[in-house]
Amino acid sequence: MSATAADEKHPLELEGARVSVKKPEVRYDVQGEMSEAERVARAMQNFVKDFGRTAAIYMESCIHCGMCAEACHFHHVSGDPRHTPIWKLEPFKQAYKREYGPFAWIYRTLNLKPKVTVAELAEWQELLYDTCTVCGRCSLICPMGIDIASLVSQARHGMFQAGLVPHELWAVAERGAREGSPLGATPKVFADRVAWLADDHEIDIPLDKPKADVVVTMSSIEIMKYPDSIVATARILNRLGVDWTFRTDGYEATNFGLLSGNTAWQKKMTMKLIDAAIAAGAKTVVLPECGHAYTALRWMGANMLGRPLPFEVQHIAEFLADNIRSGKLRLKKVAKSVTFHDPCQIVRRGGAVEAPRIVLEALGVELREMEPAKGLNWCCGGGGGVVTIHRADRLRYKVYQLKMEQIEKTGAELAVTTCANCRQTFDDGQAHFKSEREMGSLLELVAENLSDGE
Ligand code: SF4
Ligand code: SF4
Repeated sequence: MSATAADEKHPLELEGARVSVKKPEVRYDVQGEMSEAERVARAMQNFVKDFGRTAAIYMESCIHCGMCAEACHFHHVSGDPRHTPIWKLEPFKQAYKREYGPFAWIYRTLNLKPKVTVAELAEWQELLYDTCTVCGRCSLICPMGIDIASLVSQARHGMFQAGLVPHELWAVAERGAREGSPLGATPKVFADRVAWLADDHEIDIPLDKPKADVVVTMSSIEIMKYPDSIVATARILNRLGVDWTFRTDGYEATNFGLLSGNTAWQKKMTMKLIDAAIAAGAKTVVLPECGHAYTALRWMGANMLGRPLPFEVQHIAEFLADNIRSGKLRLKKVAKSVTFHDPCQIVRRGGAVEAPRIVLEALGVELREMEPAKGLNWCCGGGGGVVTIHRADRLRYKVYQLKMEQIEKTGAELAVTTCANCRQTFDDGQAHFKSEREMGSLLELVAENLSDGE
């Protein structure tokens, strides 16, 4: 790991006033032994490898209107022009102009776009990882339809190959690839937890059934930090009388390969779920309360397999909503006001906007929407792997304050979400600000309120 130091002033909003504060030491992380020239070459080769027609159209379409800046929560709280979404793609854009675009030879010959340097890539490590949750709010706002979030994910591929990933994120991704879980929820740990929870809660939790209609998955945050989610899932599926199982050969839906930019690790994690579901003859795979798990299997799974998935993929909120709509799942009324935090990857990027609201309606709560909500909801600030990066904490807490203001303005008694990573980000934010507001799980709220008449 190497480091650079910088003491330049950095504008931040503090107590409503824009002030300059001393920037903490900026450091960047490196992996592997290679020369600077080799790092740059690898980054550029992999940037270029990802350029297809869509990325090329995006690169040519920006009209520099600046609207994406206003959309980004990091830019919103810092006011730093470097946090403008399209600026985060500058080295990627330089690679496009010099190596791939229709006038690449002119750019090279006249050196109109100079070669990217390793110092620039080091600076962009912070921009592509620490200050982007891949939330897609900028993509939604862009009048030219440029999907900046997907380009950030593509640019991360080049950064990974160049060994330029924030160390904490790299470490959890590597552990996920090596052990099967970024937080140590290995198959043995998972099986032990399931046995302990089944015993403790006197509930049947099917594990490793050879065949089942529904294979259910979990995220490592749920397994290790919120194990009640496992019990809640079992209560609901057992009540529905579904033929379901967890499987130790494919339970972990967390995918840090995707977040770090390593497509080989991403594929390895995804294929475990796919292979387990195929082995079980599953008609449906239910994904847990985890945002990027939804992106990784629901929207990218078929690409990893190389053909359409032979089963349906549903986020747990979609599964619950379908069973409510069909009349199979009936719930008790909860006489409380509730606000719902829309996880970016499930709602904005994933399109599952109404499913959680159908569930909340069935619970009879008074839903108090945040302003803005649904596709335009502000991100919690911890997605895209940002919550793992400690040097990103200071700005992440500013983003978190934006989110908390949204929640408090609703005056709702309860706040719930359908992403354990958002939940963890909230827990961390609440501890940081010594506040006691809790972020609950929609899944657990449902399990606590199953109608006795079922
Ligand atoms: S909103 Fe779109 S067109 Fe406008 S500056 Fe950002 S990327 Fe370019
Ligand atoms: S994807 Fe989200 S975090 Fe990343 S640049 Fe766009 S608005 Fe900002």
